[in-house]
Amino acid sequence: MTEELKQETIDVKEDTPTEIPAIALRGIVVFPLMETHVDIGRTSSMEAIDNALGQDKRLIVLVQKDGKIEEPTPEDLYEYGTLVEIKRVIKLPTDGLRMLVKGIECIKVNEFVAKDPFFVVQYESCQLTNDCQGEELEALLRSVMQGFESYSKKIGKITPDNFKRIIETEDIEKRLDLMASFLSITLEEKMQLLSADSLQQKLETMLGILIKEARLSELEMRINEQVKRQMDKSQKEYYLREKIKVISDELGEGEDRAAEIGEFKERIEQSKMSDDVKEKALKEVNRLAKITSMSPEYAVIRNYLDWLLDLPWNVYTEDQMDIKIAEEVLETDHYGLEKVKERILEFLAVRQLKNDTKGSIICLVGPPGVGKTSLAKSIAKALNKNFVRLSLGGVRDEAEIRGHRRTYVGALPGRIIRGLTEAKSANPVFLFDEVDKMTNDFRGDPASALLEVLDPEQNSTFSDHFIEIPFDLSKVMFITTANSAHTIPEPLLDRMELIELSSYTEEEKVQIAIRYLVPKQIIEQGLKEEQLFISANTILDIVRYYTREAGVRNLERQISAICRKAAREIVSGKKSNIRVTKQNLEKFLGKPRYHYGITEENDEVGVVTGMAWTSVGGEILQIEANVLSGKGNLMLTGQLGDVMKESAQMGLSFIRSISDQLDLEEDFYEKCDIHIHVPEGAVPKDGPSAGVTMVTAMISALTGRKVRKEVAMTGEMTLRGKILPIGGVKEKVLAAHRASSKIIILPKENQKDIEDIPLNIQKELTFHLVSTIDEVLDLALIKEKKNRRKTNK
Ligand code: ADP
Repeated sequence: MTEELKQETIDVKEDTPTEIPAIALRGIVVFPLMETHVDIGRTSSMEAIDNALGQDKRLIVLVQKDGKIEEPTPEDLYEYGTLVEIKRVIKLPTDGLRMLVKGIECIKVNEFVAKDPFFVVQYESCQLTNDCQGEELEALLRSVMQGFESYSKKIGKITPDNFKRIIETEDIEKRLDLMASFLSITLEEKMQLLSADSLQQKLETMLGILIKEARLSELEMRINEQVKRQMDKSQKEYYLREKIKVISDELGEGEDRAAEIGEFKERIEQSKMSDDVKEKALKEVNRLAKITSMSPEYAVIRNYLDWLLDLPWNVYTEDQMDIKIAEEVLETDHYGLEKVKERILEFLAVRQLKNDTKGSIICLVGPPGVGKTSLAKSIAKALNKNFVRLSLGGVRDEAEIRGHRRTYVGALPGRIIRGLTEAKSANPVFLFDEVDKMTNDFRGDPASALLEVLDPEQNSTFSDHFIEIPFDLSKVMFITTANSAHTIPEPLLDRMELIELSSYTEEEKVQIAIRYLVPKQIIEQGLKEEQLFISANTILDIVRYYTREAGVRNLERQISAICRKAAREIVSGKKSNIRVTKQNLEKFLGKPRYHYGITEENDEVGVVTGMAWTSVGGEILQIEANVLSGKGNLMLTGQLGDVMKESAQMGLSFIRSISDQLDLEEDFYEKCDIHIHVPEGAVPKDGPSAGVTMVTAMISALTGRKVRKEVAMTGEMTLRGKILPIGGVKEKVLAAHRASSKIIILPKENQKDIEDIPLNIQKELTFHLVSTIDEVLDLALIKEKKNRRKTNK
């Protein structure tokens, strides 16, 4: 449809007949003042036009309610229409006509005077009632004009000329008709405008239409934008993906990658992961598929997937529940350790009765080499569980337990997750070795992470920073070991059931070696049983002269060294079997490393054998004191800890307080320096239990009384000379026995600890339980006074 505005007004002729031909149009509403082309095909319409052209070229155009009707009857037409003037008619090559008409006024059909061969109608002009004036009119009109302005800006079909003409049309009714002819609106809306019978109604209808159009066009714009954005995005992604494909094809990696991704998917499907975990894993695989293998992220995701798939999700071994079998396994794997085995079996029995894996955790406490790790292994074997060991010695921060976030370069899962991949089942025995060492180095964090791991309330959803997906640790049986319970952090200690293992006696060591270590090493070094023989006596010599330890770790090493040498001799064909004896031992192990029985050869002044306890077992300390001319200084050497230094100071004060009784001059300390030395300076020593020993050494040095060489002592002393109990009696006594002491001085309150000492050793020793330093001095110092040292006379 083309519209042009050639003139603004048409005079309505006075003598226009009110009966006039009419035609029906489909979908076109001709508004007054509007000039438009109309194509005509229907014969009836052409006849009507003919008729009109024969008269005054005026015609009524009516609108069909339904454009599909071929031969409309009056009922099919709206009763409102337009009186038009025919400006021009052209014959179309296809039988039809094209005529240019111009709207004159809006009319209402009163009656169809004739219907055949064409419609003739009797009509009346529609005059708008002017019911709107003043401010109301102005407000309404202003809104309409604003609406029209923004409409025309958005639609952009109205030329500036036409727009100008419209707004300059004075007559409001005509202006509205003009506007209406430019709006792209529905037929019904156009008819509403045409048929309005008051000015207010016409303005309001127009405003309603404009507001609706504004809303629609805004919506349309939004939708367009959204569609465009989505298209942009998907186009961009498509483009990039295609590009990656081309690049990786060029690099010849397309197939490898596809195979790798396929493999990951298959592994995920075949794993026993829960659906959640599978979903997450597949998501990662999909991410992997989208990025080039050149990118660093590719390696990160692949590494992550490898770890994820290596974890034993829902893989459980079947437990062996028979306590009898467990007992047999523990019994055959270990010599002695009766109490320990019993405690372990009790623990297992309770666990089985309660039928849960939760509850307390065994902590095996004892010096190195006494079989803690191997007991834990046996427990795993007895229960038919897989076994993993994790050493916590030196673990310094939480990330070692929980892992690093994936975003870190070279990130790894924590040790727990790594341990589980090694265990290959989700219900293994998990041994945490040296829990006490962890906190010695660093406080806080790793211990609290560990606490979470061990806590049955929390560990069913243990989350590692690297893996990110919670893993169920509740079926894991945790066992811990420590050298000493003192340094285990309190909250961890609370969770654990301590089972203490102590040093072995020489006899036990020999038995362990004969029954376990020698046969084990023979096999490990590829020998046959009959090819090597080591007698019990020889082993005792190895224990005495080549090792000095609480456990049997070094002993095992020495035996292993012997086996290797023997293997070499046998392989070189020199001998077919080998006997290791006391006499040829040096050939295998070199010169003895230790003296057995290092207590002094003779009774000496100022040298006392003390018994100490360190985390690696019992030790004896030869404490030496010397008195020199000087000014009352107390010198202490040999890497002594603060507590030990303080007890030396206190010891000196005590000696001053009893100088009379000792027959020393009252101001003896002002004229001399006292030097206390504890040999083997490299080993740090601390604790109050050397108090008695240091005082005895000082008194011996000051009074010149000799110390009986076969005496070994331990005990804390108060400022008034009372002796207080100490710990680690068994370990200390065993060490003293190793060093061939015969008389053992212990605090009275430690009496109960004597029964822990193996009977055969008890028999070889004489125990003296003391409560004051006087008693110690009586026992340790030889009565007669020789070379009495009255200092600085
Ligand atoms: P720990 O963990 O206490 O440091 P290990 O368990 O590593 O000690 O023991 C060291 C070696 O000594 C292992 O080969 C172990 O089998 C052996 N062993 C220790 N105690 C015994 C024992 N009572 N019976 C048999 N072998 C033992």
